[in-house]
Amino acid sequence: MDGNLFAGIGSMGLEGISGLNLYGDTKDSEAAQEKVQTPEDIEREMLFEKSYECPCCFSTFKNHSLRTGKAKLASVDLDLHQKFDNIEPLKYDVVSCPHCGFSAVTRFFTPMTPTQRKTTLQMLRQGYIPQDEPEGIYDYEYAVSRYKLALACDVAKNAKASEKAYTCLRAGWMCRTYKEELQHAAKPEPAKVVQVKLLENEFLKNAYEGFIVALGKESFPMCGMDEGTVNYLIAALAFEQGHYEMSSKMISTILSSSGANPRMKERARDLKEEVLSAMKNCPNP
Ligand SMILES: [Zn+2]
Repeated sequence: MDGNLFAGIGSMGLEGISGLNLYGDTKDSEAAQEKVQTPEDIEREMLFEKSYECPCCFSTFKNHSLRTGKAKLASVDLDLHQKFDNIEPLKYDVVSCPHCGFSAVTRFFTPMTPTQRKTTLQMLRQGYIPQDEPEGIYDYEYAVSRYKLALACDVAKNAKASEKAYTCLRAGWMCRTYKEELQHAAKPEPAKVVQVKLLENEFLKNAYEGFIVALGKESFPMCGMDEGTVNYLIAALAFEQGHYEMSSKMISTILSSSGANPRMKERARDLKEEVLSAMKNCPNP
């Protein structure tokens, strides 16, 4: 006997396993195969190609989209931005037609009125260059440009204030993740961090102003959010931007509302502590 238990198994068609090690640790070889996965590979695995029909030019196309249930929630920021392990889903929350350029956050990629279509096409025909959907994951710069295009389309189609605010909110939140990744990058780029931070602030400032306008003339639910959630969001954005009086006012509204959900009231109480502490340190912002 030649000492190899599996020698000769080739006669059963399994020549490839004749060198199998009986007590070898198969986990090692599995681990060796798994560890070659890059962060890009992990992100790519969470995506699929979703089909859409453009409400503006009626072409059909595919965009990357996040697979349901693939992203694992890690934490929630003060202003309700949800952070996930290994991916920032907001990178994929703008649907963009590669033919005419019409773009919108997924929630508002919906049928348009003839007038909205006309004014949007007028804007896009000023020079939109048809794009190819990237093979791999979206990088942040590309994702930011998709949000800017979505916002320009919101303006062109005369979208409601809440819709424009919602686009700004998600763009600002995504820029925050972009900024944080730059801050932790192996190769520091301080000037780029400052640039992205300014963009985050600008988007969130416009989100704040847009939701205040919407509060005065729109009804609830607003962008899928109930009154308590929108009030809390405004309070948190106001706090982040140093508008402490406005933040306090919105917190009082939530705490005195009988309809606000208990979780949002709890968040409002926590935010109140932060606002009081900030006001103490900076009485005249
Ligand atoms: Zn289109």
